[in-house]
Amino acid sequence: MTAARSMDGPRVAIVTGASRGIGRAIALRLAADGHSIVLVARSKDAIETLAAEIGSGGGIAEACACDLADDAAVDSLVEGVVERHGRLDILVNNAGITRDGLILRMSDEDFDLVLGTNLRAVFRLCRAAARPMMRGRWGRMINIGSVVGLMGNAGQCNYAAAKAGLIGLTRSIGKELGGKGVTANVVAPGFIETDMTEALPEQLVQEAVKQLPLRRMGRPEEIADAVAFLASDRGSYITGHVLAVDGGMLS
Ligand code: NAP
Repeated sequence: MTAARSMDGPRVAIVTGASRGIGRAIALRLAADGHSIVLVARSKDAIETLAAEIGSGGGIAEACACDLADDAAVDSLVEGVVERHGRLDILVNNAGITRDGLILRMSDEDFDLVLGTNLRAVFRLCRAAARPMMRGRWGRMINIGSVVGLMGNAGQCNYAAAKAGLIGLTRSIGKELGGKGVTANVVAPGFIETDMTEALPEQLVQEAVKQLPLRRMGRPEEIADAVAFLASDRGSYITGHVLAVDGGMLS
């Protein structure tokens, strides 16, 4: 990785779910763009290793182990970042989980767990980030949704509800904070090669990929590119948008 600074200058970014998959790729990409990255996940070792990797490449990153299901930990996360860095410019809400099941068998626990991590924690982080971003009169909130939030998916009513809710949340924030220089957008991935999709039956994945105009799964780096664009000054006139990065799945 190079330490090249972008024209946008170093900014402070929180990336949740940075321990692997899409979040890891986003953190590496934003660090390569010259931003200071706060890496958030429960797996302390994984984010510490990533922070060291970014550091040895000349970038700036710190590991902040946090369980987003813990309200108190979420509150102190943003507070701590602003205390240490004096600012918060970019918030990428990427952490997400699945607990799949058909609605007839979906338990309250699995519904609440997915809504808690994929929607409630995002709301709480956006709320906490709003003030420091407004103070700086510049901010980027980028929430990682899913094509499932737009299409629904059998066996994922909890996940689809959370990801659809994320769109309403993000668009509302965009309307509230736009006048303060803060944008809010959703990046909605399709089928991306990560641990999350690794768990799916191979045949199901093959069948789904065959239907895609681009005939392949996406790479985490391709989501990171979209996020990096929205996080930069080049994305300054885009807010309340849902950017599908899905190989044409929704086309
Ligand atoms: P992944 O490989 O399963 O990684 C999920 C990340 O979220 C991990 O870093 C995990 O870290 C973190 N996380 C989960 N629960 C957490 C919690 N309670 N507190 C803190 N961190 C937590 O998933 P991915 O495929 O990279 O997906 C990333 C995002 O993209 C998710 O929002 C997902 O819904 C979305 N997405 C993915 C795909 C896809 O095809 N892969 C498609 C559409 C949307 P720890 O386990 O270390 O806490």
